[in-house]
Amino acid sequence: MTSLQQTDPEVYGILQKETVRQADGIELIPSENYASEAVMEATGSIFTNKYSEGYPGKRYYGGQENVDLVEQLAIDRAKELFSVDHVNVQPYSGSPANAAVYFGLLEYGDTVMGLKLDHGGHITHGLPISFSGKSYNFVPYGVDKETGILDMDKIREIALECKPKMIVCGYTAYPRKIDFKAFKSICDEVGALAMADVAHIAGLIAGGAHESPAEDFDVITTTTHKTLRGPRGAMIMCKKEHAKNIDRAVFPGFQGGPHDNTTAAKAVAFGEALKPEFKDYSAQIVKNAKALAERLNEHGFDLVSGGTDNHLILIDMTNKGMPGKIAQEALDEAGITCNKNTVPFDPRSPFDPSGIRLGTPALTTRGMKEDEMRKVADFMASVIEKHEDLDHLKKIKGEVKDLCKGFPVPGIKT
Ligand SMILES: *Cc1c(COP(=O)(O)O)cnc(C)c1O
Repeated sequence: MTSLQQTDPEVYGILQKETVRQADGIELIPSENYASEAVMEATGSIFTNKYSEGYPGKRYYGGQENVDLVEQLAIDRAKELFSVDHVNVQPYSGSPANAAVYFGLLEYGDTVMGLKLDHGGHITHGLPISFSGKSYNFVPYGVDKETGILDMDKIREIALECKPKMIVCGYTAYPRKIDFKAFKSICDEVGALAMADVAHIAGLIAGGAHESPAEDFDVITTTTHKTLRGPRGAMIMCKKEHAKNIDRAVFPGFQGGPHDNTTAAKAVAFGEALKPEFKDYSAQIVKNAKALAERLNEHGFDLVSGGTDNHLILIDMTNKGMPGKIAQEALDEAGITCNKNTVPFDPRSPFDPSGIRLGTPALTTRGMKEDEMRKVADFMASVIEKHEDLDHLKKIKGEVKDLCKGFPVPGIKT
C-alpha cells in the first residue's frame, strides 16, 4: 500500500474509505462476497503484465510457459470442482460469457427461452435493449403468480409452442431450488440445448448445497466472484461436443487477450473451493439465509415464495408501505447494504421497484451464523419501522458497527 499511498494519494484515500465501509457495514447484496487475501494477491500480481491470446499450448505470442501452467491449473481445478468435460476460464465476466455461449452455439435470430427480468432473470437472458434481446428471439417464461415458484408445466407448454433452440435457466433473483432435471427433460422433448447460468449459486453447487446441472446440461456459465468467492470474472463449462465451438466463440469470437492475473486468481479460488471447509461454508450460507428469512417473516416482511432454499431472499415491501428504493436508502443510512429489486408481476418500474433483494454469502464469509442473522433481521425491522428518524438510523449504524467488529473481513486489518 505504501507505493499507492505515495504515488496516488487520491486513489489511496478513496480506497481507505471503502475499506472502512466494507469493514463496518453489513453486506447483504447477494451477488457480493469477500475474496480471500490469496485471491486478491493473485489478482494484483505481475500476471497483469502478460498478453496471451489463444489457449495453453496454442498461443500467438511468446513467453507463455508460466501463463500456460496457471491457466491449465485453473481449468483442471474447475473440472474437478464441477465434474465437467470441458472448461474455458477466459471470459472477462458473466455477461461476456453468456454472449460467447450464444455466439458459439446459436445463429442470430434463433429462438431462446429465458426467465423474465422482473421474475428474476438476468439482463443477458433476453432483455429487449441488451445484445441478447436484440440478437436472438428470446421468448420469456415466468414464475407462478400465487407461489412465486417456477411453473414447470407452463414452461413446457411455452417450449412446445415456440420450439426454442436453447432454454436458459439459472437466475439473478430467484430464492428457490432449480429443478435442472425437469428443465433437461423439456429440452430433450423439444430438441433444445440446455443452458444453466449458475452465476449466483455456483458456490452452493461446488459445496454441495445445491443440485448441479453438470451431469446432463450442454453448457453451464458462471461468474467466479459471487458465491464462488473468487476474483471478478467468469467461466464456461460444457460437454465435449461443444468444446470447440465454445473456445472459438470466446477467442477470437468475442474476446482478445485473457486477463492472466484473473486466471491465476481463479485457480486460487477453485483450489479454495475444493477444500472441505468450502462445503461447510456453502451449507452455512443456506442455513443463514433460512434463519434470516424466518426472522424477517416473524417481523411481518412479505417474502417472495415465502422463504428461501439458497443464499437469497426477495422481499416485497408493498405491505410495509414503502417502495424498494426508500427501503434501500434507509438501510444504507444504518450501515446495511442491500439492493432494490423488482418482484414478480411488479406494478412498479425497475428504477423504482417494489422490492429489495438480500443474500448471506458475504456475512457468512465473515463467520456470522444464525444468531447474527436474527440480529440483522431485527436491525432491518427497526430501520424500516422508523425510517424517517435519522437519529435512530445513526444509532442502528453504531450497533451494526459493533456487531461487525467481531467478524473480520479477509484482508482488512482492524
Ligand atoms: C451476475 C450475473 C451475470 C453477469 O455477471 P457480470 O459479471 O455482472 O457480467 C450473469 N448471469 C446471472 C444469472 C447473474 O446473476
